[in-house]
Amino acid sequence: MLYRWLTHLFRAGLIFTLTGSLVSIPAVYANKSDGSDNTEMLVAELAEDESVEDVEHSEPLRSSEPKNDSGKMDTAQTSDEKSASQDKTPDSTAEPAVEEVAPNVDLKEVAPPPKPAEPAESEPSEPKETADQSKPTAQEADAATDESGVEEPAEVTEPQKATSLKMLGAEVLPGTSTRLAWSPAIQIAGLSQPTPVLVVNGSKPGPNLCLTGAVHGDELNGIEIIRRTMYDLEPDKLSGRVIGIPIVNLPGFQQGSRYLPDRRDLNRHFPGSTDGSLADRIAHSLFENVIRHCDMLVDIHTGSLKRTNLPQLRADMNNPEVAELTRGFDRMAVVHSTGTTGMLRHAAVEAGIRSVTMEAGESLRIQEHQIKAGVNSLTSLMDKEGMISRMFVWGDPEPVYYDSEWIRAEHGGILFSETKLGAKVSEGEILGYVSDPITNAQHPIRASSDGRIIGMAVDQVVMAGFAAYHVGTEAEVPGE
Ligand SMILES: [Zn+2]
Repeated sequence: MLYRWLTHLFRAGLIFTLTGSLVSIPAVYANKSDGSDNTEMLVAELAEDESVEDVEHSEPLRSSEPKNDSGKMDTAQTSDEKSASQDKTPDSTAEPAVEEVAPNVDLKEVAPPPKPAEPAESEPSEPKETADQSKPTAQEADAATDESGVEEPAEVTEPQKATSLKMLGAEVLPGTSTRLAWSPAIQIAGLSQPTPVLVVNGSKPGPNLCLTGAVHGDELNGIEIIRRTMYDLEPDKLSGRVIGIPIVNLPGFQQGSRYLPDRRDLNRHFPGSTDGSLADRIAHSLFENVIRHCDMLVDIHTGSLKRTNLPQLRADMNNPEVAELTRGFDRMAVVHSTGTTGMLRHAAVEAGIRSVTMEAGESLRIQEHQIKAGVNSLTSLMDKEGMISRMFVWGDPEPVYYDSEWIRAEHGGILFSETKLGAKVSEGEILGYVSDPITNAQHPIRASSDGRIIGMAVDQVVMAGFAAYHVGTEAEVPGE
């Protein structure tokens, strides 16, 4: 109650602060091209990952009425999904049958490398009963979706019980954290190198949040965002579970490559299949063994080279549950994007898991300001979802929603920008020039509408058709 009062009391002050921040953005960027010491979370330099085409081909944002015809993800269904996810055995063929209690590892200490999740010598495990007796009741499932549950404990007569998380052949007890190992089983068995999966199972019930990084092996910021986020969690203060896979594409990561060893883009193969290409099989293994445990998924990416973005989420705002999820990310630009078939985010949403892509910087770089923005947003999300309580923030998260459009170069040449990331632009305003190095022709590129530069190419050689500027127009949230 006191919290609510204070929230209202400080709301006005917060809005004032945010307004001030927005106004100051162009100036910040005029002075700092790198922005590495920029503490302003709203603005940073990024590159976009989901391709320009993904955004362009999105189904247009539909207006207002919250629709539930997708059926999959209305609130009631989400509760069901949640109960299911608590004791889901995603794919009996893929999931190792043996479960042993995972050691409670202090994630802050150097731990031995995880062992592969292949069924080992079976140790008859007494904790199995713990798991069975702690199956979630409907009431528990409801409580888990109740975002304000933390604020209104008075209505709860009996404390809810957290349950074990059974995945990857292990059982993670409530109030513990551990490292598991995911093996897609596509390598030469003797050389198989398992992919670490960090799990924090809270001592209180709540939703399962999954964080995936480096689905493209050259995208480094997400790895660090997941590390910082997870190492800050305390199992005994967490409601729900956080499952983090900092480096999904381990082979790509080791080679500094975006792709899998077969040159395929893993993020075009979800949910995968057991009899398809290497990418299909890896995707299927990850999806069945890990992703299906999630109630929420934040897939963290960075961009292709040579484009910078405001920090942003890509989310299908036509999906009411996904739209609601975006409200938890504090001070993060949200760009509507349906996503395309094969993307992890898309496949997860199809499977009833609320999912967004977070764009956090450029590939092959570690960018402190991007990482801070990402960690801050995830912390805000966990707070909004009732998983943690952060006392130092007043008021509700304040995401900013955009409809967007890419403006392309009409001529080949060298691109010189006149505008800055985050700048407000007007229709017809010159954003930059493409200069022909041979004929000396100067071709201006103009804004086709009023808006804000939420992404742009760095100065470089371009061909005609190159997507140079991503202009966002602030939009209302569907349903509001
Ligand atoms: Zn990516």
